[in-house]
Amino acid sequence: MHLKKKDWVLIAIIIVVAGLAFFLHNLLGAKGANCVVVKVDGKIEGTYSLGEDQEISINGGTNTLVIKNNRAKMKEADCPDQLCVNQKAISKNNESIICLPNKVVVEVESSENSEFDAVSN
Ligand SMILES: [Zn+2]
Repeated sequence: MHLKKKDWVLIAIIIVVAGLAFFLHNLLGAKGANCVVVKVDGKIEGTYSLGEDQEISINGGTNTLVIKNNRAKMKEADCPDQLCVNQKAISKNNESIICLPNKVVVEVESSENSEFDAVSN
């Protein structure tokens, strides 16, 4: 098999791109992929990183979610039952806080299942 210079350049580009994609994937994966998805009435209202401390007003202010120390907790809600406020903070993949009266769902999503959950908890 005889390779021309052009072929070698092509091979080099493929290797670099593949390496870069692998590197980026690892980088993003290691950077705490967990985030919370906020849904109102079944529609996604926003996605927020658990790694960033913040306060989120949901559904025009009926619910207030607080993200702190990689955990999300419903801080305030105007629903009559206050069940969502009383739910414990969520941080692990597939954990959720649900406010039935306001149709608000907050769910933790992770791009990959992390075996480090037990450690960070
Ligand atoms: Zn509620």
